[in-house]
Amino acid sequence: MNIVNIKDTSGKLYYIGGVVRDELLGRESFDIDITYVGNAIEYCAKFGEVIRVNPDFGTIRVNVCGREVDFASTRAEVYDRKGHLPRITKIGCGLKEDVLRRDFTVNALAKSITTGEIIDYTGGLDDLKNKTLRVLHDGSFIDDPTRIIRGLKFSVRFGFELDEHTKKLQDEYLSAVNYDMCYKRVKKELMETFNLNSQEAFERFIRDGIYKLVTEKKVVLPVVNIEELIKKYPVQNVWLVYAGVLRDLSRLELTRQEKKILDDFAVLENSRMNNDFEIYRAFENAEQESILLYAILKDKDRACRYLDNLRNIKIQTNGEDLQKLGIKPSPEYKKIFDAILTAKLANPQMTGADEINIVKNYLNS
Ligand code: ATP
Ligand code: MG
Repeated sequence: MNIVNIKDTSGKLYYIGGVVRDELLGRESFDIDITYVGNAIEYCAKFGEVIRVNPDFGTIRVNVCGREVDFASTRAEVYDRKGHLPRITKIGCGLKEDVLRRDFTVNALAKSITTGEIIDYTGGLDDLKNKTLRVLHDGSFIDDPTRIIRGLKFSVRFGFELDEHTKKLQDEYLSAVNYDMCYKRVKKELMETFNLNSQEAFERFIRDGIYKLVTEKKVVLPVVNIEELIKKYPVQNVWLVYAGVLRDLSRLELTRQEKKILDDFAVLENSRMNNDFEIYRAFENAEQESILLYAILKDKDRACRYLDNLRNIKIQTNGEDLQKLGIKPSPEYKKIFDAILTAKLANPQMTGADEINIVKNYLNS
């Protein structure tokens, strides 16, 4: 489970953060974080094969019996520039100081590797019992607004609620967002949250105004249920189908592929689609994510007509077939293929021979 085989009598090693929370909730952890009160790089290399060291952060990743474990030195931080990465003020501080820089009380629990004792400086055990997410201080969201998205992610993943005061702090922050923030982290948290494919998470994201972290433009909740849509039509970039509803993702650093998905949608949205032929041609080279955005923001019936029916219709005739009929390669080919496709969309049962007849008719006309 979440426990790795480390024997240590120093009393200075603690499981920390998510891994302690997950163990108490009886859940498997994605990653195992251990903190060392002092300099982890010097002390923790002995636990296995060293994978990576980051001296600036005092962290070291070690392979312990086949599991990658992150060892961190206890550290204290300050947010000189709100919304950006904090500056480390001390590596090797006390455990309490290390715990107080964290996001929520349920993520601020430590468990001694030597004694198994749970150290709870912030009331995290009670909050865990009461399924409550509570920040550690009033400036928490100002220091790091990505915690608002983390709160959404944890509340949906675990069925937790924000404590009342924390909700108030969140509302306050969202009513006056400071857009000078690290959007790389915002994107990472958005991806983790929306990749859960949860309609509930998305509805909260819109209704609670969390989307305001990303755009100043007003966003309303679409009527289409995105979770169901994605279950029926799976896509690789689940998060982008949700985030794309905001339309304005200019603050996020998108990859080329992600940009293409949004650009394709923009083209689709403005395409004329008055018949099956036009629908087919508009959608045939678009990414499925773009088509789902069209379903959500423009016309679900039309997008589903393509996904359920039209896209399975393929013409069999190719350029070689046309050459065999004595037609020289030319722009005429496109017109011929369009004529075949139009006929085939109206009558999908058409055979290859039927298609050739269409070509012959076309040539005669
Ligand atoms: P997950 O199960 O998604 O990995 P986690 O709680 O382990 O959740 P991580 O992102 O792995 O989250 O971070 C590990 C720990 O580091 C957290 O439990 C929390 O204590 C702390 N942490 C992470 N991100 C922040 C943040 N933005 N602000 C403050 N503390 C954070
Ligand atoms: Mg984790």
